[in-house]
Amino acid sequence: MRLTEKCAVFGVFGRRLEAARLVHTGLWTLQHRGQESSGISVADGTAIRTHKGPGLVAHVYDEPILDRLTGHVAVGHNRYSTSGGAHADHSQPVTGDATLVVLAHNGNLPSVTRLLAHLEQRRVDTDGANDSELMHRAIEHAMRGGAGIEAAVRESFDLFTGVFSMLLMTRDRLVAVRDRCGIRPLAIGAVDGGFVVSSETCAIDAVRGTFLGDVKPGEMIVIDDDGLHASQIVEGREKLDIFEFVYFARPDSVLMGRVVNEVRQDLGAHLAREHPVPADVVIPVPDSAVPAAVGYARQSGIPLDFGLLKNRYIHRTFIRPAQRLRESGVKLKLNPIPGMLRGKRVVVIDDSIVRGTTARQIVDLIRGSGATEVHFLVSSPPVKFPDFYGIDTPRRDDLIAARMSVEEIRRFIRADSLGYLSYPAMIAATGLPEDVFSTSSFNGVYPVDLGEKATLA
Ligand code: 5GP
Ligand code: MG
Repeated sequence: MRLTEKCAVFGVFGRRLEAARLVHTGLWTLQHRGQESSGISVADGTAIRTHKGPGLVAHVYDEPILDRLTGHVAVGHNRYSTSGGAHADHSQPVTGDATLVVLAHNGNLPSVTRLLAHLEQRRVDTDGANDSELMHRAIEHAMRGGAGIEAAVRESFDLFTGVFSMLLMTRDRLVAVRDRCGIRPLAIGAVDGGFVVSSETCAIDAVRGTFLGDVKPGEMIVIDDDGLHASQIVEGREKLDIFEFVYFARPDSVLMGRVVNEVRQDLGAHLAREHPVPADVVIPVPDSAVPAAVGYARQSGIPLDFGLLKNRYIHRTFIRPAQRLRESGVKLKLNPIPGMLRGKRVVVIDDSIVRGTTARQIVDLIRGSGATEVHFLVSSPPVKFPDFYGIDTPRRDDLIAARMSVEEIRRFIRADSLGYLSYPAMIAATGLPEDVFSTSSFNGVYPVDLGEKATLA
């Protein structure tokens, strides 16, 4: 079983809509949340059909495939994972053999002990199933026993120890559920007499929908021909993963009422106040650190330029299995603009340092292109604790800031200076109170029970 998934989900319900086509657009917009595989399930009231495959949305579907996916209710999923070479196909939506219900999950269950015990007691096969597949089996089992989808979700909810922003679909219903802390986002929109549910609001915009609100932590939303029905399954307390603001979400999405781009610019502005550096130019590590670099440049008065060119067609350097592959990946992906940085004192901004591989490579590249000084600034605090809620940082040993001081990291990446944003400044930049966030990567406080994984934290 794998620990780590940060994915995208997108669902549609609407009699006047070509549901699978809208899901396709939604998934394309949410490609940044997962590039390993993609899938769409669609229902027309009588049967559920699914198409899924490895790779990017652009490669998984074609016109004839989309033409066949007819119906008024659909869910889709882009999968992100650490991937260590050959492995079982865990692409989603999870359909099961009966296709009574399909499930698309963004998140991760750090503990499946109770869920496994529940299924084994009922003689449900659990062999080779990952967390999402186990959740699907529990809900499907309840439905086979005669429960409707709503009752099945309600009954199973407490078995799911962990993080889930998920969509379920039957032949005639779309259901959205979010764990009691709402660690991963999930938003609802209205479109042409129907509804969409999406990991991020940018994909609601892409299908010309109107944002209605977020699925609340602990809430279940059922959408059918009678409209939208919301019910609170358990009491929730909002704990959105602050990494959504730092790195994951697209800058044009709105989380908790704040445009991600604005928060990132504010992170950069705070960074400029905390780490002023006399320099000639500010450059972002593209694409994710662009807003923070804009904020830094604006606040400091140092001109912004795009000194590193990113190849847009290369993905996922972060998650290559072997370190060596990761290193060659950075060189493939980024190239300094010839001449631009020669003789300059450069401030380079990235959104985060996780393993330290990227930062070291980038400092090298910039020095190699003639910069006289390279100052590396990070628009978030040191990542010291592993993630169990859906990010790709499962082991403490892999996190450079868990092993080294800031000065040691500076020496490792060979920068003239290294500065991280402080924790209080990160919170301040969101404009929201600290207690609405999960900040576990930075402070090791885990709002969702880790169960048997607690010893790894
Ligand atoms: P490092 O080389 O330090 O391991 O990775 C840091 C870089 O990875 C930063 O440029 C940051 O934008 C990016 N990053 C941070 N978190 C994640 C993640 O969960 N997935 C991917 N693909 N990249 C990430
Ligand atoms: Mg990056």
